[in-house]
Amino acid sequence: MKLYDITIPIRAGMPVYKNDEARQPKLTFTKKAETDGVTSSTLELDLHTGTHLDAPLHMLAGGSSIDEVSLASLMTACRVISLTSLEGEITPETLIPFDLKRGDFVLFKTKNSFSETFDQEFVYLGQAAATYLAELGVKGVGTDGLGIERGQAGHPSHKVLFEAGCMVLEGLMLKYIEPGEYKLIALPLKIVGAEASPVRAVLVEERCVSE
Ligand SMILES: [Zn+2]
Repeated sequence: MKLYDITIPIRAGMPVYKNDEARQPKLTFTKKAETDGVTSSTLELDLHTGTHLDAPLHMLAGGSSIDEVSLASLMTACRVISLTSLEGEITPETLIPFDLKRGDFVLFKTKNSFSETFDQEFVYLGQAAATYLAELGVKGVGTDGLGIERGQAGHPSHKVLFEAGCMVLEGLMLKYIEPGEYKLIALPLKIVGAEASPVRAVLVEERCVSE
């Protein structure tokens, strides 16, 4: 069994959406072991900074919040597909050759994983591809962009996925991950009423070795 951490480290100066300074995390030490005998800290964090899960409430009024999402859907078989030569929009034509099936959880490895800074031209999931995935009935999608869509008025890609009950993981780090089948574990914090949460996302590679 091999474990891969696909989580972006939360730290000052990390890449954040649109380089918006307000999205930078602030870790403040309220006590230090050297002087206070104990170390304590608080963290101020935009819930869409770094590797995170969006809940339907993010885009749908009255949608479920992050404490209500199905944990079973976030400890599941998944498939990493490589789209590293793609620029711009993921379309249905991009996805059709991969023969995705109902119930799949699919992670898109794109050029985004190789960028150390926020790239305005990041690869994103277009509305047509989101509709294709929703109609197919995939369980979840994950992207190595800090958002699954880019500048689409009304956020149609998020909405169509949420309306189909599909999980949306954003900000994955897939640079070192080979395409293939894994087990995904990406559990959100139980923040009552929130629309998103950071996750610690890992992939488990389970290889059967025959003698
Ligand atoms: Zn988000």
